[in-house]
Amino acid sequence: MTSAHASSPHIRFGICSYGHCAGMLGRPVPRRAVLASSGGALLAATLGRRGRAQTTLNPDEALTRLMEGNKRFVAKQMTSLNDDLAVLRRNTVTKQEPFASILSCADSRVPVELIFDQTIGHVFVTRIAGNICTPEIIASLEYSAVVLGIAVILVLGHEGCGAVKAAMAGNAVPGQISALYAPLRPAVERANHDLTAAVKANAQIQADLLSTASPVLMDLTSRGHLKVAVGYYTLADGVVTLLG
Ligand SMILES: [Zn+2]
Repeated sequence: MTSAHASSPHIRFGICSYGHCAGMLGRPVPRRAVLASSGGALLAATLGRRGRAQTTLNPDEALTRLMEGNKRFVAKQMTSLNDDLAVLRRNTVTKQEPFASILSCADSRVPVELIFDQTIGHVFVTRIAGNICTPEIIASLEYSAVVLGIAVILVLGHEGCGAVKAAMAGNAVPGQISALYAPLRPAVERANHDLTAAVKANAQIQADLLSTASPVLMDLTSRGHLKVAVGYYTLADGVVTLLG
């Protein structure tokens, strides 16, 4: 990444929003070095856990479980609420074994566990307005993949996303709200003033970013232990549609 490139609007926190910059924090990382140094076991050991393998699902099975949960949610036939919450709480005091991670918008209309009919301990959820990748979000998802052993990461955009809409308008806003604009700008530019297209483009861009800017996640996906998927949630009917 050149210094000129690093100052480009699509670079946020040293991360390339398009996913075509090889490294994070302004330092390109050769793929060979990435794969050699990204050992999940080492990271897991450093973090004090035994590493992957809690879930027995493979990435496709994990994604299918999410989508089956969404079908139950849409049909108003949810089963997760049948579980004894007291038992669940006790059984998850000292451990968690989620099978999937979801990067979602913080929007109150996108209640992730409900949408996928999941309960305590099933899904590892990171939420931020615009479902964008920041270093902290990537770190959290790396933790879920390496230490907790999730098999799939779903990046979930949604209908009528206010963050994407605001980035499209580009108006002056109070406080630090405009900090969301830069990481959303590549999607806005790609979508040509169409909000739905921009939301979908953003979800894909953030998923690509996860797949390419994180050596840890790249290593797991290249070995078939992890899949990064993209989805779009429509508000009225509650349907999640997989993209790409
Ligand atoms: Zn949103």
